Amino acid sequence: MMDDRAFRNAMGKFATGVTVITTLLEDEAHGMTANAFMSVSLNPRLVLISIGEKAKMLDKINESGKFAVNILSDDQKDLSMHFAGQIKEKRQIEFDWINELPVIKNALTNIVCKVHSKQIVGDHTLFIGEVTDIVTCEGAPLAFYEGKYSKVFS
Ligand code: FAD
Repeated sequence: MMDDRAFRNAMGKFATGVTVITTLLEDEAHGMTANAFMSVSLNPRLVLISIGEKAKMLDKINESGKFAVNILSDDQKDLSMHFAGQIKEKRQIEFDWINELPVIKNALTNIVCKVHSKQIVGDHTLFIGEVTDIVTCEGAPLAFYEGKYSKVFS
C-alpha cells in the first residue's frame, strides 16, 4: 500500500540542488526555498517551477508575473533554511537586483524570468518562466537528498 509517507520518501530519493525563488510585488521582495525546478526548453529559453497552493509565493507570482530562480551554493544552507521558514528569528536580507527584480547575492546562478504560462496541477501551480536575464558565479552547489542537505563536491 502507498501512503503519503511512502510517496514523500520515494520522491526524496531524487537528489536535487536547492533554489530560492524571488519576486517583487508592490515594492516588497519575497523569497521562498524550492527544489522543484527544471530546465524545459532552449528555443525559446524556458524553465519550470512548482509552487504549493498554501505558499504565500503563489499569489505574489500570480500578481507580479515575474520571478527569479537563484541556485544556491554549498555555503548558503542557512539561506535555504531561512527562506523555507525553518529558522524562527527575523532576518534582514540584502538582495542584489537585476532589472528591478530582487535576487540572492552570491548564488551560483540568478535566472530572471517572466511568466510564460501556468497550470494548476493538484495542490501545486506549475509556472513556466521565459528567461530574460542570467548571472552565473563559480562555486559548488548545495544539494538536497532524503530530506537533508549535503555537499556533493568537496
Ligand atoms: P513565508 O513562509 O512567509 O516565507 C518563507 C521565509 O522567507 C519566511 O521565514 C520569511 O520570513 C522569509 N522571507 C520571505 N521574504 C523575505 C524577505 N524579503 N526578507 C527576509 N526574509 C524573507 N515549496 C514549494 O511550494 N515548492 C517547492 O519546490 C519547494 N521546495 C522546497 C525545497 C526544500 C529543500 C525545502 C526545505 C522546502 C521547499 N518548499 C517548497 C517549502 C517552502 O520553502 C516553504 O513552505 C516556505 O515556507 C513557503 O514560503 P511562503 O511563500 O509561504 O512564505
